[in-house]
Amino acid sequence: MAQRSSRDLRSLLRQTFGFDDFREGQEEVCRAAVEGRDLLLVMPTGSGKSLCYQLPALALEGTALVISPLIALMDDQSSKLEAAGLAVARIHSGLPREAQRQACRQYLDGELKFLFVAPERLRVPGFMEMLAKRPPALVAIDEAHCISQWGHDFRPDYRLLGQYVQALRPAVVVALTATATLQVQEDIVAQLSLQKPARFIHGFRRDNLAIEVVETPKNERFATTRRLLADTARRPAVVYASSRRDAEALAQELATDFPAAPYHAGLPPELREQTQRKFLAGELEIVVATVAFGMGVDKANVRTVIHVALPGSVEAYYQEIGRAGRDWKPSRCILLHSYADKRTQDFLMEKSYPAATELDRIFRKLNDQPSALDLLRDELRMDAEVFSSAVEKLVAHGACLVDFEGFAIRGRIDGWRRLYEQQLAQRRAQIDRMIGYADSHQCRMSALIAHFGDLADARRMCGKCDFCSPETAIAVRYRSATAGEEDAMWKILRALKRSSGKSTGKLHSEVFPDGSPSRNEMEDLLGGLARSGWVALESATFENAEGRTIPYKRVSITRDAELLPDGDSLGVLMTGEAAQASPRTVTRKRKSADAEETVAFSPAQLALEQQIRGWRTEEARRLKQPPFMILADRTLRAIVLNRPRTIDDLLQVDGIGPSKAQRFGEQICALCAS
Ligand code: ADP
Ligand code: MG
Repeated sequence: MAQRSSRDLRSLLRQTFGFDDFREGQEEVCRAAVEGRDLLLVMPTGSGKSLCYQLPALALEGTALVISPLIALMDDQSSKLEAAGLAVARIHSGLPREAQRQACRQYLDGELKFLFVAPERLRVPGFMEMLAKRPPALVAIDEAHCISQWGHDFRPDYRLLGQYVQALRPAVVVALTATATLQVQEDIVAQLSLQKPARFIHGFRRDNLAIEVVETPKNERFATTRRLLADTARRPAVVYASSRRDAEALAQELATDFPAAPYHAGLPPELREQTQRKFLAGELEIVVATVAFGMGVDKANVRTVIHVALPGSVEAYYQEIGRAGRDWKPSRCILLHSYADKRTQDFLMEKSYPAATELDRIFRKLNDQPSALDLLRDELRMDAEVFSSAVEKLVAHGACLVDFEGFAIRGRIDGWRRLYEQQLAQRRAQIDRMIGYADSHQCRMSALIAHFGDLADARRMCGKCDFCSPETAIAVRYRSATAGEEDAMWKILRALKRSSGKSTGKLHSEVFPDGSPSRNEMEDLLGGLARSGWVALESATFENAEGRTIPYKRVSITRDAELLPDGDSLGVLMTGEAAQASPRTVTRKRKSADAEETVAFSPAQLALEQQIRGWRTEEARRLKQPPFMILADRTLRAIVLNRPRTIDDLLQVDGIGPSKAQRFGEQICALCAS
């Protein structure tokens, strides 16, 4: 196979596509394909995946076969390639026979650089034989996650691709997708039998998004949304609700203050289109939508995305927050959730994934004679929504075939139950992972990046989310830890100091054998400690006696708290109400820490405290030092109370010596003056 230098590829990029340069990640991907390596490419929508098979195809001799699940995608790609002057043909059922025949002739004559087909085309008799007469140089499989039943968009026609692709070897196989979890990635590689594939998982980091996840009772979420969006700088905004009713109710409530409208699949198409148009044009500032919104909406300046309900999967959540800040300017994504969301998800799940017994009731009524679906539903007296979901699932698993007029016959009989059970379990796991994300104490962006499998990039914290930068959060309300919480945290830190890390369950039973604080309260304390950098939490798994993999959380100490100046607090910020029954025995000698904590700040002082804390966090990060080394909490509070405007004033503050005054004085005084 011809080796191409990177200069060749770059000049090809300029000549053919007119692009000045590669985008991040593209060049190495193209190079690997030209060198003949199979590839799995996972990059977000809009990041330029197509180029990663198109450019190698141009560099290689022969034709590239592109398998794509949607006619619209095929049309879009092929017209762009045609516009670049390349020989392209499509074969799909929407085209006249003659056009299809001509495409085959051109393919066999070696006139085509690209041939686009839908996956079902490969099982049309004679088609594979035709391809085999002149095997393609490269096979690109777009939206490759459709091959995996673990993915959210499983298509039965994709399932057969594996065997067809083998018949087209030695072609290079390039699988592309925007949304594949680690599990789906493994599945794609296995099903396509990719040979030692190069894996490129890139581009999931969005540097301009500050993510907050806030536990908020359901009945407070509308008011919170309204408060958050009151600031003009936070609009335009997209708010995601879990039901049409909520979308309408919230839009109506917001509309008294801002130009706002609902958007969901139950509204007439003209109205939806109008809402979309007005939002793009800036006439509407807020759209309250269900999942249906956003597919075709590319509005660059969305400043805020708020979820007033827990999304059904991390993949969906990532896509939805991805609508914020397409202009690369700072934007915020806020998820409001609580334990009650699990029940909502269970309810939605029951509707869209009916029990296998419901599917079975329908399946048993089917045979070789076409039955009218609406009559069947009446006969079975099934809820309309449940019935249509059940039929949809039967079709997806090949147990039922439906024609355009709504008549159904029985399909392949074997195995659909097992497949459906797997799909159900998978769907439940997606919900659990979303709940796990919301409940976790780690950098939000890192957690998302890790979810998509870019483990190298996931190591870098974003510095902006509610975990990395609690001081700058706008939705999460933090408070100082109470004396009781502080005391419990010291116990935790001491216990951890003697070990190299523990499961949180074990930690709880060892340190708090009487169950006070409770396990959940302790998890909150650990969250606070992790936020302040005292401990690190990680997800781990172990295999139990039955060989099942059990997930658990592991915690280890990252800084030695004993180094704190005596009398200083851990400086941990907590969320939620302080627990009533926390132990109040203060075991560490503290100089009237309680008295200090009860100092009541005015709103202006609170604001200043937040500002100085925010500045301290940034400084600490910049200097790679713990925050208390920059300013002890006690000193911070004294500054707030005295509000020094000059270096001289600052030097009067307890805890500020000449070196601190010299290093930080100007900045602190500026904050106090603002
Ligand atoms: P994806 O399939 O990843 O969603 P596409 O391949 O459709 O994204 O590309 C998105 C857009 O980016 C297209 O308009 C494409 O022309 C453009 N694009 C891709 N690569 C480059 C590049 N190197 N320079 C400029 N634009 C690019
Ligand atoms: Mg694409």
